[in-house]
Amino acid sequence: MIDSAISVKNFSVQFGNFTALSDVSFEINKGEIAIIIGPNGAGKTTLIKAILGLIPHNGEAQILGKSAREMSKSDWTRVGYVPQTIDLPKNFPFTVDELLKFSTSKALISEKDKHARLEQFSSLEHIGDLRQKLIGELSGGQIQRVLIARSLMFLPDVMLLDEPLAGIDMAGERTFYEFIYFVREKYGITFLLISHDVTVVSKIADKVLCLNKKLFCYGQPSEVLTEDKIKELYGSHFGVFAHKTCPKDGPCNLYKEVEK
Ligand code: ADP
Ligand code: MG
Repeated sequence: MIDSAISVKNFSVQFGNFTALSDVSFEINKGEIAIIIGPNGAGKTTLIKAILGLIPHNGEAQILGKSAREMSKSDWTRVGYVPQTIDLPKNFPFTVDELLKFSTSKALISEKDKHARLEQFSSLEHIGDLRQKLIGELSGGQIQRVLIARSLMFLPDVMLLDEPLAGIDMAGERTFYEFIYFVREKYGITFLLISHDVTVVSKIADKVLCLNKKLFCYGQPSEVLTEDKIKELYGSHFGVFAHKTCPKDGPCNLYKEVEK
C-alpha cells in the first residue's frame, strides 16, 4: 500500500534560459494538508502545474504513485485541481446550482449522495447564497470557490488548489481553512495548496513548503517556520513575531506580517 499522495524528486523547470525551479524534492502523505508559501514569482503555480504534467520539467513527480504521463482517465477523477485564475465566458449559460449538479454524472454518484454533498459543500464553501446566480455574474474569487465545491462533489483523493483565497476577506479566510480542515477530517482528502498567509499555515498545515525557485524549508510548520526562514524567503522587510498563546475562538496568530 502506498502512503504517498504526492512525491516530487529532484524536480526542476526551465523556461528557456530562465530557471523557475531547481532541485525540489518533497513527499506528501495521504490525508495531509500541505501548504506552499513564497513570494510572487517564486514558482508556486509552476510547481503545481508541472506536477500535473501541464509544464515540461526534469525530475520525477508522482500523484498517488503514478506520474502524470502514466495516469489513466479514471486515475484523474481522483485528482481535483482548481487553478489561480479561471477564464469563463461572461455569458456562461448556467447557474451555480446547475454547474454543481451537472458536474457529477449518475454513473459516478447516486442522486441521494449528490444532494447531500451539494448541501454540505455549498454551505461550507459559503456559496449557498450564490446558488441561483449565473456563473457570469460571479467575481473571480466566487467562481474559484464554486469550482472547489464542484471538485469536491467527486470526492477526489487529492486536491491541488492554487491560491484559493483570492478575493476573500480575513474572516472568510479563517472559515475557508476551517472548511479545508473539516473536509480532510471527514473524507481524508489530501490537500496541496498555495497560500500567502503565513498565519494560517501554522494553524492547519501538516507540512509547509517554503518555495522561492528552490525549497528553503520543508516540514512541520512549528519546526521549520522560523523567523530567519521567513526573512530568507520574503526578504528582511518581512518582520515576524510569535504570540505564545492562541485565543480560544480566534485564529492563532503565530506569525504576522509587519511593515518596517
Ligand atoms: P508564483 O505562482 O509563485 O507567483 P509562477 O510559478 O507563476 O510564480 O512563475 C514563476 C516564474 O516563472 C515567474 O518569473 C514567471 O514569470 C515565470 N514563468 C511562469 N510561466 C512561464 C512561462 N510559461 N514562460 C516563461 N516564464 C514563465
Ligand atoms: Mg501563482
